[in-house]
Amino acid sequence: MANSKVFLLTLLALAADPAFRVPAAVDQGDTIRVAGNPNGEAYVTFAQKKLRLFADGLVPVPAILAPGKYPLTIADKQGKPLFTQIIDVRDAKFPIQNIAPTKAMSSLKPAPGEVESIQAFLNTVSETRYWSEPFRAPTPQCMNSPYGVQRYYHGKPSGNFHRGLDLRSPMGTPVKATAAGMVRLAHQWNYTGGTVGIDHGQGFTSMYLHLSKIEAKEGATVQAGDVVGYVGSTGFATGPHLHWGLFVGGIAINPQKWIAIPACAAGAKPARKRTKKRG
Ligand SMILES: [Zn+2]
Repeated sequence: MANSKVFLLTLLALAADPAFRVPAAVDQGDTIRVAGNPNGEAYVTFAQKKLRLFADGLVPVPAILAPGKYPLTIADKQGKPLFTQIIDVRDAKFPIQNIAPTKAMSSLKPAPGEVESIQAFLNTVSETRYWSEPFRAPTPQCMNSPYGVQRYYHGKPSGNFHRGLDLRSPMGTPVKATAAGMVRLAHQWNYTGGTVGIDHGQGFTSMYLHLSKIEAKEGATVQAGDVVGYVGSTGFATGPHLHWGLFVGGIAINPQKWIAIPACAAGAKPARKRTKKRG
């Protein structure tokens, strides 16, 4: 049986290299932090995704990964297994949210190159680590749609989930870089609207969508707190807000595990039968 094989692997790996440490259980959308990888030259495989394991040890847990037990394996540059441990992925119980896209929104198509450019950005893995904690909230406002929400359009499952947080920020609010990094995307796209993407290094990226105005320049370095644009309602959006996403290895992770952002009083409770003005 697969489990006993994995168990055996675990014992062998623990005997070989007891330095790595991982949590026994995580939630969907969490970021696993593998401890004990000081040289940052290993590779990790988890949930069928293989990533470079840098010294910070970040490994993303996809929001849509079915709850259950999954092996996390670490191998060296040559592919020699160093470590395996089973991690229990718990159900984060993400809510369902119904939104009512307007006709204009429903007919929106990504611009030529939009999907490809964003994917290429998310796949960026820079050797240099720019980011450091604590992260900063990109706007001072409350959160009115959390990460991981399963999106229904007009009451029907869209197959999409919310890959970030929506911050209920007024039109024109300055949007600030959540951490230091290099601007890799600064473009007005059809679907994501005014879009800024920052490479924080070593596979960690952030995105800021629906901006009314872009301040950042592609190729420029930014510090945490630098203004990269202004809140708007461009692209797939029903009203002014900031969509802010964090990604590790191209996988959207839950920003609330990195910064505590308060939920808006009126918009905090997700409901199945309610129409909300956001995208
Ligand atoms: Zn959003």
